[in-house]
Amino acid sequence: MKQIDEQFFVNDNQNKKSSVDDILVKDEKLLWQQTPKKSNFVMQRTIKFLPVAFIWLLIDVGIIVTFVTTMKDLSFLWFIVPFFALHLAPVWAYIASIVKAYAKVKNLKYVITNKRIMVIDGKDMFVSNSINLNDIKSCNVNQALSGRLARVADITILSNGDNSIVFNDIKDAKFICKKINEIAVSPTDVNGFEKITCNYCGSMYDSSLNKCPSCGATRKE
Ligand SMILES: [Zn+2]
Repeated sequence: MKQIDEQFFVNDNQNKKSSVDDILVKDEKLLWQQTPKKSNFVMQRTIKFLPVAFIWLLIDVGIIVTFVTTMKDLSFLWFIVPFFALHLAPVWAYIASIVKAYAKVKNLKYVITNKRIMVIDGKDMFVSNSINLNDIKSCNVNQALSGRLARVADITILSNGDNSIVFNDIKDAKFICKKINEIAVSPTDVNGFEKITCNYCGSMYDSSLNKCPSCGATRKE
């Protein structure tokens, strides 16, 4: 029978984990870690709501100003104030989306150790996704226009088991991706095609292609 002592029902998870070192297993060493570039991360997740929120706010403010300046009798305020508090919902939603994105990125960490690649998401070092180094299939770089301006890019790491990890808005993305592709064990894909690394962006792709599917750079022989 398993030995049951006074420590048996003590929950280890209650010991607050506060740094990456707290989650490393035996013989595991931290090689690289980065957090997404916050401004770019938040902007990318909120910018699509910005035009609606902005126009909505502009119109409502215009109406409120017209109301207040033309009305002699302000007894209508009891109706106007709650009405616009509700009517401005898209603006509140936009502000909430910014707060939410900040809260998310605050505790997001991308980590590479000598054993695995991980996404740490949450205050108590919760590993939300990981891929073992010997299970890496390929890595690709994607850079949106906003990323180009902020000098950051996303990298997508695929595992042989079709798991994938995305590192959002990181610096040195090309270099990191290139190094990850060097770790990838198999130099050929499932169809037996040789894989080559793009000289420009560090993505790995099929040698039967003439152009890099990630950045469009023509292949150099
Ligand atoms: Zn490329």
